[in-house]
Parts: sequence; C-alpha cells; structure tokens
Amino acid sequence: MCGIAGYVGGGDAIEAIMGGLSALEYRGYDSAGLAVLGPDGVVSVRKAAGKLANLRAALGEGSLSGRVGIGHTRWATHGPPTDHNSHPHADPGGRVYVVHNGIIENFHTLHAELAAAGAVFASDTDTEAIPLLVCQGLDAGLPLEEAIRQALKRLEGANSVAVISPLAPETIYCARLGNAGGVILGRGDGAVFAASDVPAIIPHTREMTFLENGQFAVVTAGGWELTDLDGAPLTAPVHTIAWDPVSAVKGPYRHFMQKEIHEQPQALIDTLRGRVHLDEGRVELPQMNLDAAFARRISRLHIVACGTSYYAGLAGKFMFETLARIPTEVSAASEYRYYDPIIDANTAVLIITQSGETADTLAAGEMARERGATLWAIVNALGSQATRIADGC
Ligand code: GLU
Repeated sequence: MCGIAGYVGGGDAIEAIMGGLSALEYRGYDSAGLAVLGPDGVVSVRKAAGKLANLRAALGEGSLSGRVGIGHTRWATHGPPTDHNSHPHADPGGRVYVVHNGIIENFHTLHAELAAAGAVFASDTDTEAIPLLVCQGLDAGLPLEEAIRQALKRLEGANSVAVISPLAPETIYCARLGNAGGVILGRGDGAVFAASDVPAIIPHTREMTFLENGQFAVVTAGGWELTDLDGAPLTAPVHTIAWDPVSAVKGPYRHFMQKEIHEQPQALIDTLRGRVHLDEGRVELPQMNLDAAFARRISRLHIVACGTSYYAGLAGKFMFETLARIPTEVSAASEYRYYDPIIDANTAVLIITQSGETADTLAAGEMARERGATLWAIVNALGSQATRIADGC
C-alpha cells in the first residue's frame, strides 16, 4: 500500500501535493517524493527516504513551483527504502515520470526484455519498468497517451499509477488496474486533485469519482476523460462524500480500533504482496536472514509480545505448531525475563511490536539474544529499535 497524490490546476502544485501526501502518510512511510512541471516546461523531482518530513526538508523554502505534479509515499516492495528507490521514477531522458502503487508481477520478464533492448535501470524497483515501457512506445512513434495505455497493458498484477510528462504539460494520466489501492479524482476550484484515498481530497471537494479496475483517466485542470486501456470511452458516477475530514480518515467505522480490525485482511495482503507466490509454492522473506540449514535446525520457537501483539502470538503458536511442527511457546514480554526461559542455539525468538519500541518486548528480545537465540521481529515501524536489535524482521 502506498499513497499517490496528484494536482493539475491554477494553484501551487507543491502545496496541494504535500497536503495530499500528509493525509496519506499512514499508507507508507519508507520514503516520499514528488515531480512537478515548472512554468518553463521542465520537470523537477525531489525525493527523500523516511517520513514525509524529510521530503519537506529536501524541498527547501519555495525553491520549486509548478501547476502540475504528482507525489508518492512509499511502502517498499521491490528494493530497499532508499532515496534512489523513492518514487517518482522516470526514464533517463526525462520524458515520463511515474508514481505507482502495487506490484508488477511480471517485473522480471519486463526487466529482462527492457535490459536486452538496451534500457538501463537506475533503481531496484519494479515501478521503473513503466516509464521505460512508455518510452519504447514513444520511440516507436505512438502518441504519449497511447504509449501509456500500451505500457499499462503489459503489466500483470494489481497496479495504480499517476504519470506526468513534459510532452503534455497540462495533464496527469491516472489508471487503476486491479485492486492495488484507489485512484480518486475530485474537482476543486479551477483544479483537479487525484489521490489514493478520500482524506487527501476532502479538504478540496466532497464530489469524487472513484476509478474502477481497468479505467484510465486523462486529467486536466477542467476535468477528466475516462477510457479503458483500449481507448474506448467510459463514464463513471460522481459521488458526494458526506463525511467531515476526521470521519473521512475513519471511513464508515465508528472508531479507529474498529477500522484497524476490519483492515486486517488488507493489511495481511499488503504484507504478503510480492513475498508469497501461491502459484509457485514459493515464499521470499529476505529480511528474515533465515537460511535453510538453520530453518531445519530450529527446535523451539518463543513468541514474546505485549497486549494485542501477545494475542496475535497465540494465533501464531497454533499455525507454527500445526504447519511447521515446531514446539512454540507464547509469553507476555513483561514476564519472559523472569521465567528463566530455556534457550539454546536452536531456539528462535519472535518478538511482535507495532511501534518497535515496546520496552518490555525489547528487553526480552535482548535477553534472548544474549542467551544465544536467533531473534526475529514483526514490526510496523521500519528502522525502530526492534528492527535494529533483531537478526531478521
Ligand atoms: N512496488 C513499488 C515499489 O516497491 C510500489 C510499492 C507501493 O505500493 O508503495 O516501489
């Protein structure tokens, strides 16, 4: 899951995009970036790993301006969360700039094909294939809009995108392919806002159009035209959102806890996306630093956590014992140290902490490591203390 924000209109694109991204920051905090088409027709890009505040700092005071732009907060799936993997991604000639939400499932095939044709990749992301594919179309003589549609047709998986180009300085192209995350369009005063979710649009308008699977939008300051990927015209209803900005973030739920509970299926899908290949029976968890020899040697697993994470651990015990036949104990982190737990070099300890900073859980994990266990962490906050003390995450 990531956040996309786009703006085309008479106002300040940077301010609009940064406002949209702050409303979407909950969707990904590995990095943030934006591309804006300046009055001189030149596209400027700023990117920064980490939270949106880093991008804000990288933007400096008023050094950029423009009336058309796209921005992104990233939840990395392909390539580590670094500056150079941050979106937007572009072709080396600077003709096409893309922000992307999702996973290009056939990325390896496209990468090999593009590399064989001489393309040079500047990032580790799957996203970069998109501008390169669009440029192949441009080089073959296709007009920009058609080149984008043809490139999108090549992508397998669930993907949402927003694209700008100096070849069409008044336009943003948006598309939603599958269920990668929303693309919502809303018309404000002399401007159109595009975003992944309602909270980014609601400060500007309550009238919104939600792109459906397979819809492609050519967006200008006056509105948008919808087609499918073959260019056949489509229409889509405009919905009036009655929520206030706080309710917009909460959606139809009464409170945030209820929202989080209902979001669990999507949170799981987002976590497993790109890591579990059900059709091939293959799982890739490179951040776990787990080799096959150690996996076979593990003789016991301790899951250690507090509060709700502890309850999640109880569900985990059932799965590890049933599926992997590894004896598993679940302990409250505040108690674990006082059990004098039995730990040896074949013990794996899995700590679960949303913030990655839960003091009892960290203390338990550190003790387990000192006693020779391999320590893993399931964490929501990248770069937190838990991710730093663990052998794998
Ligand atoms: N697959 C892309 C990446 O790794 C986009 C991930 C996202 O949805 O944030 O950069």
